[in-house]
Amino acid sequence: MKFELPPLPWAVDALEPIISAKTIEFHYGKHHQTYVNNLNNLLPGSAFEDASLEDIILEADGGIFNNGAQVWNHTFYWNCLSPNGGGEPTGSLLDAIVRDFGSFEEFKKQFTTAAATLFGSGWAWLCTDDNGKLSIVQESNAGNPMRRDLEPLLTCDVWEHAYYLDKQNRRPDYIADFWKLVDWEAVSERY
Ligand code: MN
Repeated sequence: MKFELPPLPWAVDALEPIISAKTIEFHYGKHHQTYVNNLNNLLPGSAFEDASLEDIILEADGGIFNNGAQVWNHTFYWNCLSPNGGGEPTGSLLDAIVRDFGSFEEFKKQFTTAAATLFGSGWAWLCTDDNGKLSIVQESNAGNPMRRDLEPLLTCDVWEHAYYLDKQNRRPDYIADFWKLVDWEAVSERY
């Protein structure tokens, strides 16, 4: 199966001034594209030649896992963000957040800490299990919580390439801005 870089859900400059067009051009146009290219180069002759990205995430290791998961994770990340994002969720997702974290503010605090304290490169995730119980998960490198039998609802990419052009080393500033872009409507639809 040959994978393609999926289109962004918005224009490259749509998240400005919070995330610059330059960051998106590199993050999507270079990094995300490179994961797609690397995956396509690794698949021929492998056991995953006809596998879906989800199967690759669940079963592969090494370069096929790393590149396949990074393809999926980035597509998911773009679809967590919106120029009309920010604010708070509503409905059953908000109810579950209050039930499992105490309040939306407390959830935000815990997720922010998870994203800020993740050592090195990786992803912070909000996930649900089969029973609808929410949890915050840190994953290093290309990690994806589907490997733990959890369903991703929201992610924040904390690889330096996600913020270095705009914020240099200031990951906390990037995370603070991330909240202004979270597409809670999309996140809620996943729950
Ligand atoms: Mn990234």
